[in-house]
Amino acid sequence: MIHLREVGLRYDRTNAAGRTPGSSPGSSIDVLNAVSFEIPAGSFRWVLGPSGAGKSSLLRLLNLSARPSHGEMELFGVSVKRARRSVLAKLRRRTGTVFQDLRLLPELSVYDNVALRLRLDGLPEDRIETEVTEMLRWVGLGRKLQATPPQLSGGEQQRVAVARAVVHRPPLLLADEPTGALDEPQAIRLMQLFLELNQMGSTVLVATHNESLTRRFPGPSLRLERGTLVDDG
Ligand code: ADP
Repeated sequence: MIHLREVGLRYDRTNAAGRTPGSSPGSSIDVLNAVSFEIPAGSFRWVLGPSGAGKSSLLRLLNLSARPSHGEMELFGVSVKRARRSVLAKLRRRTGTVFQDLRLLPELSVYDNVALRLRLDGLPEDRIETEVTEMLRWVGLGRKLQATPPQLSGGEQQRVAVARAVVHRPPLLLADEPTGALDEPQAIRLMQLFLELNQMGSTVLVATHNESLTRRFPGPSLRLERGTLVDDG
């Protein structure tokens, strides 16, 4: 399902977001170095490591927001380097991502934020209504369907982002700190949702700092340190 061989990711520091004081314009930074691992379909992995280790960058590679600067990456059996755009677009549709910065559309209702994905897939509206309502009830937002994201708390927004990522039951789910704004019972509930998806056959990767969660749900992990994979198991 996922196969990385000696993958590196280099960011250009001319990008304002990544520029560090004192770095010269045009310099670059290697955020992932020679990362190799294989994850069979239907697996679960924690993605662990200190802040800045490269967890988000790894998830950005896997959801195809970034391309490897070195090495080979295969997703769903497709070599990303050689794939055509239309093929990459199909791979993206098979992936659900919970972004650390959520990326909800502020002017759309909670319902429409979650429905959007199913509309893009061309599902009929009555089916969309059933799926979206059920999913939002599951994450405890059944009474907030018509609210817009700015009217919600941080934890509620995070739950909308999770509902949106899983509503189409993606074969690959990538979650970047999906419980950061949640209290313990809510975090546990979301983990149960991810594990249910995993039991139904999806491959699930969850990057987190939440140690009580990783203790409660023990599972294999990819551990990164300064852009290097130090543990895979
Ligand atoms: P983590 O998710 O483990 O906290 P990240 O993947 O966010 O780590 O970041 C890894 C490193 O890459 C950090 O040093 C960070 O400053 C740098 N970085 C992240 N995004 C960018 C970017 N867009 N441009 C340049 N450097 C970046």
